[in-house]
Amino acid sequence: MIELSTSRILILGAGYGGLVTATRLQKGLNYNEAEVTLVNKYDYHYLTTWLHEPAAGTSHHERAKVDLNEVLDTKKINFVQGTVESIEPDNKKVKLEDGTELAFDYLVIGLGSEPETFGIEGLKEHAFSIRTIDSVRMIKEHIEYMFSRFNNEPDRRDYLTFVVGGAGFTGIEFVGELADRIPELCREFDVDPNLVRIINIEAAPTALPGFDPELVEYAMDVLKRKGVEFLINTPIKECTPDGVILANGEEIKAGTVIWTGGVRGNHIVEESGIDVMRGRVKVDEYLRAPGYEDIFVVGDCSLIINEETDRPYPPTAQIATQQGFNCAENLIALIRGGELKPFKPELKGTLASLGRGEAIGVIGNKKLLGSSAAIMKKLSDLRYLFILGGISLALKKAKF
Ligand code: FAD
Ligand code: NAD
Repeated sequence: MIELSTSRILILGAGYGGLVTATRLQKGLNYNEAEVTLVNKYDYHYLTTWLHEPAAGTSHHERAKVDLNEVLDTKKINFVQGTVESIEPDNKKVKLEDGTELAFDYLVIGLGSEPETFGIEGLKEHAFSIRTIDSVRMIKEHIEYMFSRFNNEPDRRDYLTFVVGGAGFTGIEFVGELADRIPELCREFDVDPNLVRIINIEAAPTALPGFDPELVEYAMDVLKRKGVEFLINTPIKECTPDGVILANGEEIKAGTVIWTGGVRGNHIVEESGIDVMRGRVKVDEYLRAPGYEDIFVVGDCSLIINEETDRPYPPTAQIATQQGFNCAENLIALIRGGELKPFKPELKGTLASLGRGEAIGVIGNKKLLGSSAAIMKKLSDLRYLFILGGISLALKKAKF
């Protein structure tokens, strides 16, 4: 067992919530004021909000990686590369898969989310999901493999059929990228573009349910012009090795099924005994887990209710980042005997890419579409990179 001295702050996950907590602690704490340890499966942070691009192959996955060495001051933050296996909140310790045990005085859980399959048969086994660098690398390779097989088995039109299940933001952003990639793939693999189908299937009566209807219509028009087909109001009932079966019984044969039907919290949190709703912890106003004054939960693992709508805020990088700031500030206050500050999300807006040069968004009350929305999206990405690693990281990763 690795023993840490007091006050021991242990952060699980170097995503938007966990890494921002770590970098803000690094900035705000004096040397030796606390022992801060960050545990992450990889030695890099990934920009989850960009993953639809390397998944489709329109950008390289390396671009979505940020080396943790570049943003962590190891004199202030101990970095442990490892996979969390379990959290024991009452024993105040965390176990890693390699057997290491880490004790804590304060714990920050930022392990992100997992695909929500709603128990739909076959999804876990046969569908891909856009979650990590590992997962998107595999999607890109699989798409290329399907193209490479087609001319060898030309009766297999299903190799060129790509089903995307769920037309939420992830589904919409991905089909925009994939549609941009198809012409290049067709040239590379000598395939007639007319044979390729991208079908985005959505259970709700509209794509992007709950979003501004005028912008949804714009998005669908742009994507349809690029060749994306939509099946709206059409739940997927089952996924098989050959494709999907819809609730109306129809089967769509497809060589590739990508599930973008929603997310739930991390199973490790669910198994820890902390109260959860679909894997997400309904935190108090200081982001603490119910019944635990020393356990904070940030990002997609946390759930906070929007009092205006009486519904949970959607899990976003925007909220995770703001939670990281608040959590670090409160940990510093706890260590110095100061007052805790409640967390209040400040929603700046939503921006979604539709592929090259096209996006939609709402900033405040202002609707944006087309190239102006695409520019705003790039600026918002830049802002996050600046928060994380200053001007050098922003310039290194920026997409102009
Ligand atoms: P994550 O960023 O997912 O980080 C979790 C971290 O925990 C990872 O580093 C992971 O490696 C680590 N981890 C997980 N399990 C373990 C384990 N067992 N042991 C050790 N480490 C572990 N939101 C927006 O606000 N704007 C957007 O434009 C936007 N675009 C998106 C586009 C896509 C394609 C997707 C999929 C999501 C998008 N989102 C967007 C949502 C956003 O990415 C998430 O809400 C955000 O990543 C949540 O941050 P997090 O810190 O909770 O988790
Ligand atoms: P989501 O929950 O937002 O969307 C999932 C979609 O899948 C929904 O429209 C749902 O009706 C549909 N669906 C569910 N079951 C289905 C079924 N059986 N058949 C067909 N369709 C089905 O999930 P997401 O798009 O993965 O997004 C996850 C979170 O990340 C959200 O909070 C989202 O706001 C955020 N996100 C934000 C952005 C952005 O701001 N640009 C981009 C991606 C994701």
